[in-house]
Amino acid sequence: ITSLVGFSNLPAQYHRKSLRKGFDFNVMVVGESGLGKSTLISTLFDMPLTPPRTPASSAAAIARTVAVRSISSELEEDGVKLRLTVVDTPGFGDQVNNDDAWRPIVGNIEQRFDAYLEGENMNNRTKVSDTRIHACLYFIAPTGHSLKAIDIEVMKKLHHKVNLIPVIAKSDILTDDEIVTFKARIRADLEYHKIAIFETPRYEIDSNETMEEKTSIMSKIPFAVVGATAEVINAEGRKVRGRKYPWGVVEVDNEDHCDFLKLRAMLVKNYMEELKEHTDEILYENYRAQKLVAMGF
Ligand code: GDP
Ligand code: MG
Repeated sequence: ITSLVGFSNLPAQYHRKSLRKGFDFNVMVVGESGLGKSTLISTLFDMPLTPPRTPASSAAAIARTVAVRSISSELEEDGVKLRLTVVDTPGFGDQVNNDDAWRPIVGNIEQRFDAYLEGENMNNRTKVSDTRIHACLYFIAPTGHSLKAIDIEVMKKLHHKVNLIPVIAKSDILTDDEIVTFKARIRADLEYHKIAIFETPRYEIDSNETMEEKTSIMSKIPFAVVGATAEVINAEGRKVRGRKYPWGVVEVDNEDHCDFLKLRAMLVKNYMEELKEHTDEILYENYRAQKLVAMGF
């Protein structure tokens, strides 16, 4: 039996005792609105997400506020509990002036670090619940050109604070060739601007198979994703999650059609523990150290 979401694979990543307590995982989605962020989260975790309401009044839009919203749910798969929080950042990129688009996003990440720091200082580590962001899916518009200035600016503000995972949104509207070129340009941009993205850590004890898997996942970044929660009938007459076009069906769970499965492997199935560890040991520690320096210690 292959499970749909994949987090029941977690006990293989975690110690047995965590199985009873369940796992916390907090993921943030960033990018322009309408890029399929809510849809992809629903596709990844196989659950409906209430789409955040857009502000009814234009006054709210003029105020250039990005309302950061978080939605939590408890999922269970093969007896493994996952407490998932999705932090949605609607409206990003919508404003006429996007100069400060990163501010509420970074603010939210830092608030979560601060809350954890406070909890730690209360001297009762066992009771600290982990609300820190463990992964940030950054949605790139499928323009086929290169990164926009705002993407570079926002990612530069984010990459030291969060595990960045860039994805090409709605990749079904691009041809395979366009995706190859687009990916290469994005990777060159990221490198040029020294934007660090999350990498699956390598260990000396990794088997050849594990090393190959890591290389294969990393080679696909930025993941070209397609989100779809509805089932459609594919060319072979099978029911699949996908998007239907006059020329055929783009299947979500098909490696030949998009990188959804690679993203799922990185985010959920195989590297959730590494994402949490890197958040705790590197990103949070750096933040804490800087905070102490700023406070004059
Ligand atoms: P969000 O504003 O970023 O959360 O975007 P939504 O998830 O609300 O999606 C916006 C629209 O894009 C909806 O009509 C979706 O059906 C559509 N959409 C979502 N994912 C995809 C995708 O992968 N490909 C295509 N072509 N459309 C998508
Ligand atoms: Mg949304």
